[in-house]
Amino acid sequence: MSHSFLELEQRMLGDLYTTREVMDNLEVLCDDFGSRWGGSTGERLAAEFFRRKFSEYGLSQPRLEPFPYVGWVRGPASLRVVAPIERELPCISLPMSPARLVEAQFVDLRDGAPADFEAHAADLHGRIAMVCSRPPRGLNRTVHRSEKYQRSALGGAAAFLYVNQYAGYGPETGSIANDREAHMAGISISLETGELLRRLQRRYGPLRLRLETTDECPSLTSWNVAADLQGTSRPDEWLVLGCHYDGHDIAQGAHDPASGAVAVLESARLLARHATGALGCGIRFVLFGIEETGLLGARRYVAQHQEELDSIRFMLNLDAAGGPGRKGVLVNRWPELNSFFERCAEQMAIDIPVGQRTSAYSDHYPFFLEGVPTAMMGDPGGVNTGRGFDHTAYDTLDKVELADLREATSVAARLMLRMSQEEPWPVRRRSHAAVEALLASEPSLEGQIIRERMEALYEGGRMKTEE
Ligand SMILES: [Zn+2]
Repeated sequence: MSHSFLELEQRMLGDLYTTREVMDNLEVLCDDFGSRWGGSTGERLAAEFFRRKFSEYGLSQPRLEPFPYVGWVRGPASLRVVAPIERELPCISLPMSPARLVEAQFVDLRDGAPADFEAHAADLHGRIAMVCSRPPRGLNRTVHRSEKYQRSALGGAAAFLYVNQYAGYGPETGSIANDREAHMAGISISLETGELLRRLQRRYGPLRLRLETTDECPSLTSWNVAADLQGTSRPDEWLVLGCHYDGHDIAQGAHDPASGAVAVLESARLLARHATGALGCGIRFVLFGIEETGLLGARRYVAQHQEELDSIRFMLNLDAAGGPGRKGVLVNRWPELNSFFERCAEQMAIDIPVGQRTSAYSDHYPFFLEGVPTAMMGDPGGVNTGRGFDHTAYDTLDKVELADLREATSVAARLMLRMSQEEPWPVRRRSHAAVEALLASEPSLEGQIIRERMEALYEGGRMKTEE
């Protein structure tokens, strides 16, 4: 690595660690714009804010790329025990839930492992499926909320009742369908309310529940926000550094996703200010809209930029990257890149743990499906025990540390710089056949098979079941 290259990084890091621009931006996003939920005023203000900042930082072509989608507006939800006793319980509906009135007994499917659904195959039909948010133990993969919902629906449940695994965090939210109204109502309750239901059932026998949702799914428009830094020696090749900016409507979404969104923005500021003219290939910075109801911005980006996908060297997803823990890379099965990242870590004099795995639940996935080399920032040594306060009302700015924002930015910006200069770049886009083979062999993607089964049953807004 040349002497001037190291000096350039030293100037970037000196700038990063002696200003608090990255935290100032997070405060604007969270305290001024709120959740930035799709369809809210804050969402539009956030998109405009990113474009304005890109322009202020000197990036080329800061732009909003609009796309239409099916949104969701929360209405009041209610949950009541109606027999053999009566009791009103607090709840919220889950994003993309339709407006429904359902009265039925509930079935406790515990952590929602596939085995739990098999065990209740005979008594789930027509009942309310109660499922905990906890990752089931003893599996070689995690089971996402949407898979738990889909298994409930495929099992003939009348509604979905999601219970938080954590005490003191209230209900956990999260969408139950992508870009359309779900066909079955979903509501969410706290651990404490779930425990109360279990106790009441033990004392009074089978409980009859009545739940009502009043949500709406209007047609809306959102925006991906993008801006570029031109490359010099490889102007036709690109890196993509991205993160979504929409948070869930019940919180600030400070950790998920805004801590990563501001790291994308800060990387753009530092690279534009200190590395313009020193890049090999170009870098495109993208803040995606509407990740929380099905990666819609990223899916739309990939669809709108098909002809450019061959020229993307790498896409790094910073979703929620500015939280605690080590800032490594979770690479989506590109072992050819291990030695590159190891060399970077050594030259950068920091720890960059590298893991090789796949995951379908953030904005890198639509790129992954197209064969583009992708990774997400994260700790490959971390064990997934659940979301913590993410997706609850307590994902607020006070949980995010400036030191973590700086560390995430530092790793991302330095890796972008080095990736743009690396010659030859060791990987290129996978064929569709190679992607298909990978999809079939990855245990972590099993949930996608359930999703496809669900999509196949769903046509024109109605379930094609025998009922
Ligand atoms: Zn996120």
